[in-house]
Amino acid sequence: MTDDGQQMTAIKRVLVANRGEIALRIIRACHEEGLEAVAVYSEVDRLSPHVRAADLAVPLGPPAAAQSYLDIPKLIAAAQGAGCQAVHPGYGFLSERAPFAEAVAAASLEFIGPPAAAIRAMGDKTEARRRMQQAGVPIVPGSTRPLADHVQARAEAARLGFPVLVKAAAGGGGKGMRLVREESELASAFEAATSEALKAFGAGEVYLEKYLERPRHIEIQILADSFGRVVALGERECSIQRRHQKLVEEAPSVAVTPPLRRRMSEAATTAATAVGYLGAGTIEFLLAPSGEFSFLEMNTRLQVEHPVTELVYGVDIVREQLRVAMGQPLRVHAGTLQPRGHAIECRITAEDPFNDFLPATGVVRYLRVPGGPGVRWDGGIEAGNEVTLYYDPLIAKLIVWGETRSVALERMRRALRELAIVGIPSSQAFHLRVMDDPEFQRGDIDVTYLERAGARLLVGEPPPALTRPLAVVAALLAEEQRAAEPPPPSPSDRPAVPQSAWLLAARREASAQ
Ligand code: ADP
Repeated sequence: MTDDGQQMTAIKRVLVANRGEIALRIIRACHEEGLEAVAVYSEVDRLSPHVRAADLAVPLGPPAAAQSYLDIPKLIAAAQGAGCQAVHPGYGFLSERAPFAEAVAAASLEFIGPPAAAIRAMGDKTEARRRMQQAGVPIVPGSTRPLADHVQARAEAARLGFPVLVKAAAGGGGKGMRLVREESELASAFEAATSEALKAFGAGEVYLEKYLERPRHIEIQILADSFGRVVALGERECSIQRRHQKLVEEAPSVAVTPPLRRRMSEAATTAATAVGYLGAGTIEFLLAPSGEFSFLEMNTRLQVEHPVTELVYGVDIVREQLRVAMGQPLRVHAGTLQPRGHAIECRITAEDPFNDFLPATGVVRYLRVPGGPGVRWDGGIEAGNEVTLYYDPLIAKLIVWGETRSVALERMRRALRELAIVGIPSSQAFHLRVMDDPEFQRGDIDVTYLERAGARLLVGEPPPALTRPLAVVAALLAEEQRAAEPPPPSPSDRPAVPQSAWLLAARREASAQ
């Protein structure tokens, strides 16, 4: 029972239905919260750090996501077989699929996320826009219903005025989106967006939004508990994007003043309340150069870039998610929340920035992780692991904190120089060039930054690898050691219940000390 006498949900063991850095991040939070974590893994992830960090690990089979991390019956069976009481979906994969949240609940497991109805309402962008409009949250001008055909689209575009964006109602990851600058391009953009959306999401509905010129992407992190409290944890600036995908994020934004932060936070909490939200979520806004902001979409899950908020607000968002799922009140109080210092995150991906960000595959032979004051490395792979084309190309998130933005920036440059990845190309050099760019340093950025600065940033020779021959020797040694390691435990190797009782007893003892 809580202090307020509310019934708490007894969660002792959590299935982490994800992989890579976010699975490891969630496993760490479970352990700090005194919970056991069960990992799942596909054949190619057998030696991944998240598998070894967990108390138990359940194999899912073939690497293709459809047969592993997206296979709902397999994940439910894994949770039940390993004796879990809850499922954390992470981000990506099934995290924003309402049927998964429903399947988890139907199996009498706690879904660590919002109610399925909130996922559904926000997952359909036209419905989300209607709901936000009704709640009084400003939305980007455009349609609030899917368009039947390009004739209807033409009428809507005439009302809005060009340029417009054709967007998929089920959209995500920048897919099913087309910029249309004049009427002659509209019909073909409508068809292209429809078929891309159909292919990517199984739903071809599209709608129109006014295309805003040079806005910033600013999002507000919110947390909501079952005691009716909704708290906003300030903004993240996510304008450094490539093809609508974020590459660098920071908190706070140089463009957000305390009064604007208050207004955006109010709009975000109104948005979350309007859909009966629970847990961690993000309301994305576009901020126009005029200072006007409008609702873009809500992500009903943990966000990749959540660490920058954690560093400036001193909050562990994943632990708060776990607490909410256990029926406990949030540990954070709205009245006391002030951003402190500045945080920057670089998404280090296995992509070659000097070759149009071509995704790279191969074995990481050597990895030197940056450290020292104010540096956080949320990684999912280590030397000896292979990066494949089956999943997203994220190697790790490098996050730094500093007392001011310029201290954080210097720290990021230092940390990026310390980082060494041998074996596959990575985005490391691109990030260094962004940090060195005067426009970025001035904070003079918007979502078109990379389109404009890309040519300037990526000219010249790629820098020589920041590695020494010693690194290669270390890589070979690491690989040898990996080959000698035993496979990860699975529930059939290690009976779940006795281990659980032992582990829990040990943790109880440790926490009593
Ligand atoms: P997705 O869900 O596919 O990620 P979003 O609606 O979140 O798509 O938009 C992703 C990015 O696309 C935004 O961060 C912004 O850079 C750009 N964008 C989206 N809508 C607009 C718009 N109406 N005007 C200008 N840019 C936009």
